[in-house]
Amino acid sequence: MNLTERFLGYVKIDTQSDEQTELTPSTPGQMDFARQLRDELIAIGLQEVTLDDNGYLYATLPANTDKAGVPVVGFIAHMDTSPDMSGKGVHPRIVQHYDGLDIVLNAEKGIVLQPSYYPELLDHKGEDLIVTDGTTLLGADDKAGIAEIITAMEYLMAHPEIKHGKIRIAFNPDEEIGLGAHKFDVQKFGCEWAYTMDGGELGELEYENFNAAVARVSFNGVNVHPGSAKHKMINANRVAIQFAIMLPRWETPEHTDGYEGFYHLMSIDGSVEKTVLTYIIRDHDRDRFERRKKEFEHLTRKINREFPNCASVEIKDQYYNMREKVEPIMHIVEIAKQAMVEIGVTPKVQPIRGGTDGAQLSFKGLPCPNIFAGGLNFHGRYEFIPIPNMEKAMMTVIKICEIVERTV
Ligand SMILES: [Zn+2]
Repeated sequence: MNLTERFLGYVKIDTQSDEQTELTPSTPGQMDFARQLRDELIAIGLQEVTLDDNGYLYATLPANTDKAGVPVVGFIAHMDTSPDMSGKGVHPRIVQHYDGLDIVLNAEKGIVLQPSYYPELLDHKGEDLIVTDGTTLLGADDKAGIAEIITAMEYLMAHPEIKHGKIRIAFNPDEEIGLGAHKFDVQKFGCEWAYTMDGGELGELEYENFNAAVARVSFNGVNVHPGSAKHKMINANRVAIQFAIMLPRWETPEHTDGYEGFYHLMSIDGSVEKTVLTYIIRDHDRDRFERRKKEFEHLTRKINREFPNCASVEIKDQYYNMREKVEPIMHIVEIAKQAMVEIGVTPKVQPIRGGTDGAQLSFKGLPCPNIFAGGLNFHGRYEFIPIPNMEKAMMTVIKICEIVERTV
C-alpha cells in the first residue's frame, strides 16, 4: 500500500488519549488501532510481531546483510492523538498543488486555514497537502510517523539490494498524556539506539529537550473578619502574589525561546485561608535547572521570615534533557543528519522546548533522538501535512538503515 493511502486509513480511527482513565492504553480506540497494525505488520511479512496487554506493538525486520556487528536500530511512533482536540470522525482531504492562498476547511462553519496566520504554509506552495475538515485534528502527530515507518519497512523488503542490519520498530500508546515511555519494554526492544518519528517540519532533528519539574507552593493564611482584621489577618492570596512577583518577570514562556528556561505559573487556587500556586520549571541546562528549583526554596524561606510557617514548597522532577545520554554517542545524531543530506533534506537541529517519549526512553537506557514526521500545527483543527514531507521522512528511515550497515 502506498504511504498516503496508509496514512489516510489510520487517521480515520479515533485514538485520542485521555489523562483521566488511569488505564493503559488510556482509551480502547488505541488498542483497536494496535490490533489493526499488528495484523498489517504480519501481513506485510515483518517478524517477531508482538502486541502486549498495554497496547505496545513491536516488530522486526531481519537483517539482510552478511556483515557482523551491525547495531540493531529502532524506529518508534505513537498511536494516540492529543486530548486537546477531537480525533473522532476525521475527514482528511487532499489539497492538490497548493496555490498559496487561503484553504477553506469548512465553508459551512467558516473555518479557513490562512497563510497570513500560518506563514509556514507558503513553504509548501505547489505541493499536495492533507488537511482536515475543520472539525477535528488531523492526527499526523503521530500517525504520519507510523505510516512512514511501516512503508519504509515495506520498501526495504521490496528492495533487497539495500543492505541493512536488524531493524526493530515499535508503536506505543499515550504519548500525548506523557506516558508513552512508561511501559515501553526497552529490554525486549533490544536496540542499541532508536529514533522517534514524531517531529514536525521537514528536516527537524532533535536530541535536546527541557529538564522539567513541577512545583506546588502552598500558603496558609489566617482569616479574620475584614472589619477587625488589622494586625491579625494573613491573606494567603496576597502572600502568594508577593511570592509570584519575586520571580524574574521575563523568565516566562511568553518571553523566552531557544535555550532560555522559564518559570510558568500554571494555576492559582486561592482563598484568604489557603492559596496554592502551581508552577512548571523548565531549563535545558541541568545546573541552571537545579538553581531554578533552589530559587523556589529560597523564596519560600524569604516569605516565611515575614510570615512564619506560612509557605511551603513541594517540587517534583518530571523528566530530564536527553542530551546527556546522547552526547557520548553523537554518531547516532550524525547518522540521521547524513541520511537527510543524502536525500536532499537540510537537517535543522534544534532544542525541543518540551519533552518527548525519546527523552524518557533515553533515561531508560534507549538513547532516542527525534526526527521530523512532517506535520504542522499539531493538536488542532489547522493541523496539516504536506505529502512530500511524509515521503522524505520515510526516505530518511530507509537511509538510516542503509548508513548504519554501510558504516560498520
Ligand atoms: Zn507526537
